[in-house]
Order: sequence, then C-alpha cells, then structure tokens
Amino acid sequence: MQSFERIEQGEISVAIPADLHVALCHHLLRDDDQEDATFALYRPSVGRNRFTALIFELILPEEGDRDVHGNVDLQPQYFRRACRLAAAQQAGVVLLHSHLGPGWQDMSRDDIKTEHSYSAPALTLTDLPFVGLTLGTDETWSARVWEYTDDVYQRRWAATVRVVGQQLAMSYHDQLRPRPRFKEAYKRTVTVWGEDNHAQLARLRVGIVGLGSVGSIVAESLARMGLERFVLIDFDEVQEHNLDRLLGATQEDLGKTKIAVAQRQIARAATAGEVAPVPVLSGVTEEAGYQAALDCDVIFSCVDRPWPRYVLNHLAYNHLIPVIDGGIRVKLHPVTGHFEGADWQVQTVGPNRPCLQCLGAYESADVSTERDGKLDDPSYLQGLPADHRFKRNENIFPFSANLASMEVMQLIEQVTGIANAYYFGTQRYVYKHGYIRVHDDRKCEEGCLFQTGIATGDTQFPPPIGHDHSVVKARERQYSY
Ligand SMILES: [Zn+2]
Ligand SMILES: [Zn+2]
Repeated sequence: MQSFERIEQGEISVAIPADLHVALCHHLLRDDDQEDATFALYRPSVGRNRFTALIFELILPEEGDRDVHGNVDLQPQYFRRACRLAAAQQAGVVLLHSHLGPGWQDMSRDDIKTEHSYSAPALTLTDLPFVGLTLGTDETWSARVWEYTDDVYQRRWAATVRVVGQQLAMSYHDQLRPRPRFKEAYKRTVTVWGEDNHAQLARLRVGIVGLGSVGSIVAESLARMGLERFVLIDFDEVQEHNLDRLLGATQEDLGKTKIAVAQRQIARAATAGEVAPVPVLSGVTEEAGYQAALDCDVIFSCVDRPWPRYVLNHLAYNHLIPVIDGGIRVKLHPVTGHFEGADWQVQTVGPNRPCLQCLGAYESADVSTERDGKLDDPSYLQGLPADHRFKRNENIFPFSANLASMEVMQLIEQVTGIANAYYFGTQRYVYKHGYIRVHDDRKCEEGCLFQTGIATGDTQFPPPIGHDHSVVKARERQYSY
C-alpha cells in the first residue's frame, strides 16, 4: 500500500500473461451467451508514475461459489477464499467478469455496487487495493483500481491493459489514452496497416534504453510512424567517435547528452504533432532509470553491455514489459585486422518467448564482472586479449540502421499481426551472405529463473540495480565540459 500511495496521481495499468488471458477467455466468454466471473491474484509493479497490477494466478469458482443467470452472483465464501489466498502470498485481489458487447466496457450499477462492497475488506486483508476487470466479446479488457481517498472507496480507471505473450495485445481507455487523430502526414503509413492497427501502435508508451546509433534510429522511426509517448533512458554524452553513427548529431553536439539529441530529433520527425519525450539521464541499472522503465508498455533494448541487458530481461518477465533487443558483432581477423564478417541479431523477450540469457545475448558471468566495475577499469581491460568481447565495438551506420529497422518491425508485427505472424523468433542478419537466419524454435533452458519469475513484480527483492561504474564515469566526464 505504501508503494501505491507514492503514485496516487499517477497512471493505473493492468498486465496479464498470455496463458492466463487464454484461460480467462475460456472461462468468461461462454457459449451460452451468459456473463461469468472469477477472482484472481495480482502483484504490484510500481514505477515512477504508474501502478500496474500484474495478474499471476486465477482463483476459478468451484461448485457453489457462484450463480449464473444471465449475469452472475458470487457467494461470500468465494470472496473470502480469494482474500485468504491473496494474503498468504502477499498479493492483491482481482475480480474479472465478462460483458456481452465488444470494446472497453463501462460498469453497470450492479458492477459498481459489487466491486465497491469488496474494496474495503480486500484492502484491509491484503494491504493492496482491490482491482476490477471486465472482458468484452472481442477480448478487449477494461480495468479499474479501487482507491481509499478522503474516507471513501472510489474507482480510478486504468489507462491500459496489456496481454503479454508472443503477441502484445493492448486495450486502451479512450479518454486516458485517446485514439490518434488522422493526419495527412502519416496517411501512407496508415494505409499499410489500417486505422485500428494504427491506433494500437500510436498509443503505446515506448521506452528506449540506449540512445546511441541503434536507439536514435528506432526513435526516429517511431516518431515518423506517429507514436507520441517516449521514455528515453541514457546517461551518455556525444563524443567525437559517435558522429559517424549517431542520427541527427553534429559537431555542435559534442558534449551534449545523447538524450538531448534524440529529443530534438524526435521533435523534428514526429508526425503526430507536439510530442514531449520523457528524458531520464540515468542507466537502467540505477534506481531512476529502472523506475522510469517500469512506466513503459514496451521497451527497446539498444545497449551493448551485459548488466543493462540483464535488468531488461528481468523487466520483460518479472514486470511483463516486452523487451525488443538487438546487438551487432563485427568480426575482424585477429592478426591482420581485416574485416571477416558481421552479424546483427534481434529478438523480443517476455512470456512465451525464450529469454536473453538463454539466447546467449549476454553471458551471466559478465554481469557480475560489469557490476564489479571491471569493464571500466583500464588495467583489467589491458590484460585481456585484443579481440576480447569487452574490447569490441566496431560498427557502421548501415548495420545499425538495418538492426533498428528489424527491431521496429518486430514491434509492428507483435502489436498488429498484419502478416498474421506475431512471432518472428530470433532473427539474425548474416552480412557475409546477405541473408537473415530465423530461429523460432529456441526455448529457455530447463529451470530458467526468468521463466519462473513471470509477473512477480515488486515482490522479488531486491531488483538487480545498483552502483554502475560506467554511469559514474560518464557523469564525471560531463561535469568537466
Ligand atoms: Zn458487468
Ligand atoms: Zn531463460
């Protein structure tokens, strides 16, 4: 409850793993055209400006728990059981019920009466606010949280509900996340996927972690596509050796933050009109960056270090925020230094997908090496062979542009499904042969801790953040300008 009070003015959201969504549709959308209901449990995920209820377990009704007669009546013992199970797991209580129409559902007078009657005992017994959801016939969710303010319990609508699996299925509240107004400036874009898909994509709040060569191109693409809500997380400044790859950066930007360049670039490119990205001058490995990331509906991982990737992997599973990740590796001959090839790889991670660690996008041992500060310790790096992965960062603009484009296409596909294939798997572009290899059969290793941590939210303490040496070094450099 303490954490909930922190964002009393902030946004409300609910997230559901796809497997639970399927089970809920099966239970709630009945063949006999009657409404139904079930309780479930949630864990909180509290960001800088958003409270999200992560649903992780269904408490389906048993014999005698409910009475279905067109709509549904629940027995007191059923609610008590849900509260007991919630309290035992330090979880909150959710009531989910169905309506017989499509789209975001309003509440009937009976709905309000029922949920209001549960709100006080649920908060007292679980220390977490009561949450209500309604499912429409087209699988659109609507949600609200029952807050205790000014001595009364009142509902506050969620802005979004996201179902996260191979598909990212968003439900939006039409006032809190309004549909974009059609603009001539993105007419050709909308023609590709249609207005409804455009409304799904354009209303997303997208985090971009790392505003280097890949992140800056991702930002540009999304702004031109008509997206409006950006959270930019980066701690670095523009240096001379970035100018060959950083979109929008010029000599005049040396010493400015990469975020400042990205903000300017987004403002220039945005077809939706006034767009105000949220700048977060921090690593995602630190409290400020981590909190800001928790406010996002989806995140682009445009970093090349193991620790931030590890944190992002954690966000994808524990907090149900899908992460689209990419990396580039250039191979040079160890003796002659001649170019031998280049690969870049993109994957989205989250429930029903293999994780970054099992895909080998980073080595878990490298995470602790980085946390110890060794990757920023010149004497440690000096002792490593010249072609060691910690020393490698060759790259050219077209590699980054191609990778950024592949990342954005993964977002488009999982949100819209325009090609009827929500899951692109892991895609690897092999420069030497000029083709893309697709791996869509990979799975996490047996016992992967990320897969067992799905929707654990804030209950899995502590989050994998801390003192990041590379951020500290960057801040020292920036003070000296
Ligand atoms: Zn209802
Ligand atoms: Zn895994």
